[in-house]
Amino acid sequence: MKYIGAHVSAAGGVENAPLNAAKIGATAFAMFTKNQKRWESKPLTTENIRKFKENMESCGYTADQVLPHDGYLINLGHPEEEKREKSLTSFMDEVQRVEELGLKYLNFHPGSHLKQISVEDCLRNIAASLNYAIKHSETAIMVIETTAGQGTNLGWRFEEIASIIDQVENKDRMAVCIDTCHIFAAGYDMRTEEGYNQVMDEFDRIIGLKYLKAFHLNDAKSEFESRVDRHHSLGEGNIGWDTFRFIMEDARLDEIPMILETVNPEIWDQEIEKLKELC
Ligand SMILES: [Zn+2]
Ligand SMILES: [Zn+2]
Repeated sequence: MKYIGAHVSAAGGVENAPLNAAKIGATAFAMFTKNQKRWESKPLTTENIRKFKENMESCGYTADQVLPHDGYLINLGHPEEEKREKSLTSFMDEVQRVEELGLKYLNFHPGSHLKQISVEDCLRNIAASLNYAIKHSETAIMVIETTAGQGTNLGWRFEEIASIIDQVENKDRMAVCIDTCHIFAAGYDMRTEEGYNQVMDEFDRIIGLKYLKAFHLNDAKSEFESRVDRHHSLGEGNIGWDTFRFIMEDARLDEIPMILETVNPEIWDQEIEKLKELC
């Protein structure tokens, strides 16, 4: 079975996320567990946690169907030690929240070199941050998201992601999320069946399909190979419905969260319905 949903709002408390997901017919969802644009957030209360777990159960979701996303300020590869430490502190808070909520995954963007250090040094910083995070937490699986490679963001080449995983000691706690808009902008073309198969083969050869534990399903306003990150509603951008059909038909991708981050939340229920029809 495919788990399909969207990145839903947790406004008013994390406990609202499963309710918002259920309203749009989602069988998966993503959420922020704190304000994604700020460093500090109030800790989750026992009440938040209790209600979240209660709503998860009443809406029929398990941890396998949920893909929490970390905050936007975090850069685990930051060239400056002090700022990297600040990021890591914030990331640890994210990890703790995920574990408190009884969730499994934490989806994050690898990091940026900001033109101050080499790609290799930045990848090494990211891996060191992850080694620390894994050592100082219990169970959360760190899910690296493929990026569009905009600016100095790393993780747009499969080789970069493979290099990070290679340098992480406990690989059981590592996974990867393919964002269809990002990899399209990064130069991976899945618009034809042949292209789709080639990209998946390349992912398997360079990273390993066993690490593929999530998808972000987005069409792209940005052009192929543009390294620009602009999402669009499914079928309305430069990728088109065929790619999403290939993904829905791929039995290797059963039972992993597949999340819409498309631009019009008003039609998420329709997009989810269409995707379900393609399975
Ligand atoms: Zn993301
Ligand atoms: Zn994404």
